[in-house]
Amino acid sequence: MSVSGFAVIFQGIEPNTSKPIITNTEIHVPQVTDELSEGEVLVRLVSSSICNSDVHTLQGRRKEPTPSILGHEGCGIVSLSRKNGVEPGTRVTFSIMDSCGNCRNCSTGLEQKCDHLYKYGHSEFSGRNLSGCYSTHILLKPGTLIVPLPENLSSELAAPLNCALATMVAARRIAKKILGERVKGSNCIIFGAGMLGIFGFVLMNEEGMNVFMTDVSQERLNVAKEFGCTPLSGSELGNQKYDLVLEVCGVGKVVEAALPHLNVGGSIILLGSVTPNTEFTITAEALVRKCATISGLHNYTKIDLEDAVQFLNEHQSKYKFANLMSQPIPLTQFYSALSLALDQTYLRVILDNTK
Ligand SMILES: [Zn+2]
Ligand SMILES: [Zn+2]
Repeated sequence: MSVSGFAVIFQGIEPNTSKPIITNTEIHVPQVTDELSEGEVLVRLVSSSICNSDVHTLQGRRKEPTPSILGHEGCGIVSLSRKNGVEPGTRVTFSIMDSCGNCRNCSTGLEQKCDHLYKYGHSEFSGRNLSGCYSTHILLKPGTLIVPLPENLSSELAAPLNCALATMVAARRIAKKILGERVKGSNCIIFGAGMLGIFGFVLMNEEGMNVFMTDVSQERLNVAKEFGCTPLSGSELGNQKYDLVLEVCGVGKVVEAALPHLNVGGSIILLGSVTPNTEFTITAEALVRKCATISGLHNYTKIDLEDAVQFLNEHQSKYKFANLMSQPIPLTQFYSALSLALDQTYLRVILDNTK
């Protein structure tokens, strides 16, 4: 068996120190197309980024099978392909999930909830399944959407687009469906000034909305302000009413704060609350009288990924996305990258998967 790459393998949490056990482990990378099954694509990763969900896993706050190759945000160059229309040498991004395309959820635009869902960066590593982005290579399954990257979009900038940006593109799709003509010129408030929040700002700003943002961290709000967003300090939501509320902070209770400020016909979309302790209390009456809509959104569907690539490419010169990201850190120095992610100096720590 030839060894031709390496992966950062997460072995679990050290019980005494509560620190993650990480090993740089050599992996076997398929060398010829015959080693791939029908529909599989091998990608040599160029760039990846550390999502907060991975930080939580590495802190022991979220449980994942071990050993595993974490990481689901990334892009790279196709090195072997057994999928029609996907050619070796093409630089691509890919959906963070693989789905069957046939089940009820897949056929109704909810591929991220496929009955046979497989999510990259979330499965036990058995030796062949190169399933995560903290690796020199990733092996994409047949039901994964693969989207070519435009030539002038850098791999560093493109790394987080298949998670954070695509998810916010899905939120924009839902908001536009609910609000229709009401989007343009109306107010939006975003709870959470992280990567999702900033992407949310940019997307809704481009739709002609006045976007406000709130966060418990003044530092993060300052970043949002530099980006062009209107920050609201503390729990002050201002005198204005909002047509769109986006929750990307993981605190369900923000619904209670937002509802009195919601316009008639307004929409609240919850995206960040992915832990069980996110209860909120509202009255049905408040929803009824305001003709309000509350929606939940987890991840995104495949069409959103294509839209995200196009959006980032078209707006990369207008917004300074690179300021939100660290300089690329070699994958071999994953521990340094992780401590930088824990510092929260940048909204995304970028890895150089070629070093
Ligand atoms: Zn992510
Ligand atoms: Zn399915």
